[in-house]
Amino acid sequence: MKNCNSCGKCCETAGNGGLAATAEEIDWWEMHRPDIARYAQDGKIWIDPDTGDYFARCPWLKRSPDSRKTMCEIYEDRPDECRQYPIDVEQMIRHDCEMLQPFDLKHLKRAQRKLDEIMIDSRPPAGRWP
Ligand code: SF4
Ligand code: SF4
Repeated sequence: MKNCNSCGKCCETAGNGGLAATAEEIDWWEMHRPDIARYAQDGKIWIDPDTGDYFARCPWLKRSPDSRKTMCEIYEDRPDECRQYPIDVEQMIRHDCEMLQPFDLKHLKRAQRKLDEIMIDSRPPAGRWP
């Protein structure tokens, strides 16, 4: 398994209600990052304040001029769901995550253990949530 290369495929799934935030996260943004909170409405993200509809694409996702790399404009204060991604190998396969290598696809349990090691500072191992 490779490290994340910032391809942005995961972030491309975050539009149209593909991402969630907790009430606590939204409260925190309201107090400390009103620029982020303005895209939350009725507990949902990311909502266009002008239309009340979901943005089709995450508004914080920026691509490099050659489109190969992406960056998150709110990286330090991004939602926990982004912070904890990827949760499991199935999710990575679904999103065509570029951390996966052919060897991983042949050894899914080993790949999950490797992923849990990589993510050790971001979340509990998959299947061991409190
Ligand atoms: S908030 Fe940042 S990390 Fe989360 S989907 Fe958008 S660009 Fe990606
Ligand atoms: S899809 Fe995978 S490799 Fe691409 S940015 Fe997301 S975590 Fe990184």
